[in-house]
Amino acid sequence: MASTDPINIVIAGGGTAGWMAAASFARFLETGFTITLVESDAIGTVGVGEATIPQIRLFNDALGLDEDAFLRATQGTFKLAIEFVDWLRPGSRYMHAFGDIGRDVGLLPFQQYWLRAVAEGRAKPELTPYSLNNMAALAKRMQRGRPRTAKVLPDMPYAFHFDASLYARFLRRYAELRGVERVEGTIQSVSRDGATGDITALMLDGGREVAGDFFIDCTGFRGLLIEEALGAGYDDWTRWLPCDRAQAVPSERARDFTPYTRATAHGAGWQWRIPLQHRTGNGIVYSSRHLSDDEAAARLLANLDGEALGDPRTIPFTTGKRRELWKHNVVAMGLAAGFMEPLESTSIHMVQSAISRLLKLLPGRITVQADRDEFNRQSDFEWTRIRDFLILHYKATERDDTEFWRNCRTMDVPDTLANKVALWLGNGHITREHEELFTEVGWLQVFVGQGMMPRGHHPIADSIPDKDLAEYMMMIEQLNAREVAQMPDHADFVTQYCAAGAEV
Ligand code: FAD
Repeated sequence: MASTDPINIVIAGGGTAGWMAAASFARFLETGFTITLVESDAIGTVGVGEATIPQIRLFNDALGLDEDAFLRATQGTFKLAIEFVDWLRPGSRYMHAFGDIGRDVGLLPFQQYWLRAVAEGRAKPELTPYSLNNMAALAKRMQRGRPRTAKVLPDMPYAFHFDASLYARFLRRYAELRGVERVEGTIQSVSRDGATGDITALMLDGGREVAGDFFIDCTGFRGLLIEEALGAGYDDWTRWLPCDRAQAVPSERARDFTPYTRATAHGAGWQWRIPLQHRTGNGIVYSSRHLSDDEAAARLLANLDGEALGDPRTIPFTTGKRRELWKHNVVAMGLAAGFMEPLESTSIHMVQSAISRLLKLLPGRITVQADRDEFNRQSDFEWTRIRDFLILHYKATERDDTEFWRNCRTMDVPDTLANKVALWLGNGHITREHEELFTEVGWLQVFVGQGMMPRGHHPIADSIPDKDLAEYMMMIEQLNAREVAQMPDHADFVTQYCAAGAEV
């Protein structure tokens, strides 16, 4: 290849992952590259994936997308939190809300003062009143931008619920307008270089061929390139996250139009509820060793808050990830890279982070193994820390009403998680390494919500006078309540700014 020839990037697969990659490359690799995406209408996409985390806004902003236009095109709503129902024990509920909790005063994180205040009866034993997002979510209110009393109150981050298939369509339009070539066809095999083993072309039906220098595998669970052609191998995490099937079904738009996702535990897994503008997304995640498909479908349908709009669709999966996400000249993204249940809405985010990681380490005309190793090391770190966070939801429970939960309570957990739990249970310490996705306050809310309280707290928290501590706790509560009372209603807000139907 001459040094003036463009580098040809070929994306295999056009689900959410494929079109997110195509849109980003179109935006950031404007010159010196050609971008081609191959997808098969006959095979289709997985067609679920509706809740996100606030980082998605960075992705959309980087592409220059208008937020209201994006929400109109994807039937989107706002998400401030996830509500976990029945996880600690039947009848329990707590929120994992985005954003800060309380405010740090002095040296220590908020939880240290709160732990002391709770122990002395000077604060409520739950985190809800100290989180602006949590209070707003429960009141079904929404606000964009910083609160007016920004000096005292934390920022209010938000994410979205949206139809992932419509998002892929929206990004397709974006990418094609910026020169991405879409090829419709079914990939039947690949050609490889006899010397290097790199993939050189995708062989499609009808004898067509799409040649490339670098390939992104976004072909879904099968991992056509990364696994079937290159045999990257798979780390199976079912021993810690035993659910292996999901069923999804939409229902009529919810009357209860919540700006949060709900995850309700049941005897062998959990059920999600995601309000969109035109419908509610629902699904059940379960362990097939403990619940049959028919029982899961019946349970899912019995717990909808509107008429089902179709029959449940079963999606089998194996929790885990490819051992190498970058092998030879192929990087896997989306379901081709691996899968963790959508308990904390992380899959679309992991596509986003894989894209940004690849853009940083993108090879030109030469690839060195160190680039692949670094990409794989960073990916492993991200995936295993998210995995640990999900495991915590199953491990830290008082539920012993089914064999499924008894197994979860008593299972051994990875050392990295055991260490996090031990640090918390001693003196309420929560540490976070640089590239970990979930923040200290994310861990804090799940620890507390799942019934884990530490024995002690940091001694510096004792230096605040009793009266000041009580007043500080009360002040946060009051400011949050006052701020939330001034916010518009979520449903009105969506109608005013982001209602679907208008052409974008
Ligand atoms: P797919 O959508 O499966 O797309 C695969 C593409 O490859 C398709 O275009 C297909 O046509 C193409 N293809 C496959 N084989 C061939 C071939 N031989 N030739 C040509 N083309 C081919 N994520 C979240 O962030 N939040 C959530 O709430 C969430 N919920 C989920 C719930 C469930 C039950 C599941 C399974 C996933 C969920 N996800 C969620 C994940 C999210 O849906 C996916 O990460 C996202 O949609 C990306 O999917 P994908 O593009 O990798 O795969």
